[in-house]
Amino acid sequence: MKARAFAYARPRTLQEAHAAFADAEGDASYISGGQSLVPALAMRLQAPQVLIDLGGIAELRGVGLEGGVLRIGALTRHAETLTDPLIRAHAPLLTAAAPFVAHPAIRNRGTVGGSVALADPASEFPAMMLAMGAEMEISGPEGLRRVPADEYFQDLYQTAIEPGEILVALHVPAAGPNHVCAFEEMARRRGDYAMVGGGILAERAGDALVSIRIALFSVGPTPVRARSAEAALIGQVLDAGTIAAAQGALEADIDPLDDEEVPAAMRRHLARVLLGRLLRKLEIAG
Ligand SMILES: Cc1cc2nc3c(=O)[nH]c(=O)nc-3n(C[C@H](O)[C@H](O)[C@H](O)COP(=O)(O)OP(=O)(O)OC[C@H]3O[C@@H](n4cnc5c(N)ncnc54)[C@H](O)[C@@H]3O)c2cc1C
Repeated sequence: MKARAFAYARPRTLQEAHAAFADAEGDASYISGGQSLVPALAMRLQAPQVLIDLGGIAELRGVGLEGGVLRIGALTRHAETLTDPLIRAHAPLLTAAAPFVAHPAIRNRGTVGGSVALADPASEFPAMMLAMGAEMEISGPEGLRRVPADEYFQDLYQTAIEPGEILVALHVPAAGPNHVCAFEEMARRRGDYAMVGGGILAERAGDALVSIRIALFSVGPTPVRARSAEAALIGQVLDAGTIAAAQGALEADIDPLDDEEVPAAMRRHLARVLLGRLLRKLEIAG
């Protein structure tokens, strides 16, 4: 099957992009890396009249550090999260997750913004935004606004981005010397979407955890914060007992969907095993 014929626009500014979307009366799709959209067009799961290429908009590019916050432009490629020195130093969870996102050819084209805008519940980067407590910068015809990750993921493939809005950048609190992180996922084959996965960003004072954010993916319609497990760990020192307590608490945090490939009970079990692995990694990292 081939994509339906479409018109193509390449705006140079956010305003031009919003104008192109308005001109198409909403029958338009933004395209960044095209690694999810192009297959969807080819299968005619989507058939917009106009494709609006975001690649020419300078505001969507670049990585910078200001006032303890890392700004990652939406057009930053997956592959850059492996090599960019600022991301490696201040958002190490993204760097840890990147090798698990698809394959090198896709990582060379796919963008962090495209992944977070799409919000596939089995994707690595959206969940890592939740673990890092990022804020999403979104542009609409009225201007820019910011949405915290805790409010951004709303339902299956549904985010705080309204039709016609553009994800401009991800703002990530920079990890410091007392932060530790861990990433894990379980997939049938390397490069496949995970059966379960997750990331943790925590801060230590001495041996105790003074802050912790745990985000899991492939366990529900959106990335999920494991708040009960976090509560079981805050102020604690990681050891076999506290890890087991967090694994027990996790029961209350997730309600996986049943599907033919991975039954809900299996996902629940795998999530528990995964959390144990993540926390043991964190224990060693400290
Ligand atoms: C074989 C294969 C395996 C894959 N495996 C994985 C995997 O293991 N893990 C994983 O996470 N992903 C995987 N992907 C998806 C890949 O990571 C995509 O690149 C990513 O999901 C989307 O990024 P993109 O830049 O290509 O977005 P596009 O395909 O260009 O766009 C995706 C969607 O987001 C919208 N969009 C894009 N950018 C913006 C923006 N700035 N603002 C608003 N809306 C926007 C588009 O309109 C579209 O609806 C895989 C893809 C393939 C083809």
